[in-house]
Amino acid sequence: MKIVLQNLTKKFPSRNKKSPGDVIAVNDFTFEIPDGQLIGLLGPSGCGKSTALNLICGLQKPTEGKIFFGEEDVTPLPPEHRGVGMVFQNYALYPHLTVLKNITFPLENLRGANRLSKEEMERKALEAAKLVQLEGLMDRKPSELSGGQQQRVAIARALVKTPRVLLLDEPLSNLDARLRLQTREEIRRIQRQTKVTTIFVTHDQEEAMSISDMIVVMKDGIVQQIGKPQQVYDDPVNLFVAKFLGTPPINIFQGSVSGGKLCIGEESVLALQGVPEGTVTVGIRPEGFILQQDGPLTCDLTRVEVMGRDISVVSAHPCAENPSIRSIINAENIVDTEAKTVRFALNPRKVYLFHPQTGERLPFTPG
Ligand code: ADP
Ligand code: MG
Repeated sequence: MKIVLQNLTKKFPSRNKKSPGDVIAVNDFTFEIPDGQLIGLLGPSGCGKSTALNLICGLQKPTEGKIFFGEEDVTPLPPEHRGVGMVFQNYALYPHLTVLKNITFPLENLRGANRLSKEEMERKALEAAKLVQLEGLMDRKPSELSGGQQQRVAIARALVKTPRVLLLDEPLSNLDARLRLQTREEIRRIQRQTKVTTIFVTHDQEEAMSISDMIVVMKDGIVQQIGKPQQVYDDPVNLFVAKFLGTPPINIFQGSVSGGKLCIGEESVLALQGVPEGTVTVGIRPEGFILQQDGPLTCDLTRVEVMGRDISVVSAHPCAENPSIRSIINAENIVDTEAKTVRFALNPRKVYLFHPQTGERLPFTPG
């Protein structure tokens, strides 16, 4: 089922007397989610992710705008008539009910022609439980399950009515690191198997990048960029998106452009064209640094961290925004850990320029 958001906006009245005026939690969302895809809705805490999800599932009414599932305008429909499955961060299972009863719960309320017999309900529950590989645990209570298993019960419960749309609001945040990894792969597998259009909300860029067909990066209620994870990483529209994606994060420097050269401090580090002269904000991805004895960018060597396949050369520069610059270098390179300085050449495809005030990306051509 394709989802279309049309000028979707949600305002909340501000309760803060010092800054009156509305909080615009979701600001004019217009985009389409293709049928059968898994979309990662990504942004820092408070940027409006949960509000967007609540609007789509119908728990909240938009101030303006419309929501379509396929060709159907679902904006006036209450949540129970939208055919959505929702999974929350805190699982929200019924502690006194078994796994089976928790999963069949949404089916118990079906009335009239949709009413199901006990056998049908159990058959559907078992089907959903098999999807999340819980079929052996149907008689347990939630307290007898691990966090990961509880979250899988919540996913099975969201799937039992074969929803048109599956919405997951930070479903992995209550799990420990290893389970988080496992469960996100599980979610990807279930989504591929059921082909249900899914929106996965998270503030964790790595999580979103790893499982999404497409990511939507948000800030302060406004969509910044939509695209395939790799494309958004390689081609960020602004400084916010560039900084939000990637671990270790992109390294930011104060720089300037003049005479077809990009300078960081006194050093001319890259020849380029197409950017107006003047100060710029420079972003360099950790993998964009090339160790080179006579390289144009000189940094103070802080330390070298061994990471197995790669090494991370940690250094410092007076023009860098952060005290530590992190580069990722192939471990076959040998770094003199006693040296005071380290010199780099830059891979121009991993160097990004931004407007020093607006943060808008300034495209350039190398050379
Ligand atoms: P996220 O899920 O990305 O952390 P939310 O959607 O929960 O963000 O919140 C977005 C913004 O809207 C925040 O500034 C939050 O304080 C505000 N907000 C959310 N729900 C309400 C509400 N019911 N009343 C007033 N403000 C709200
Ligand atoms: Mg939230």
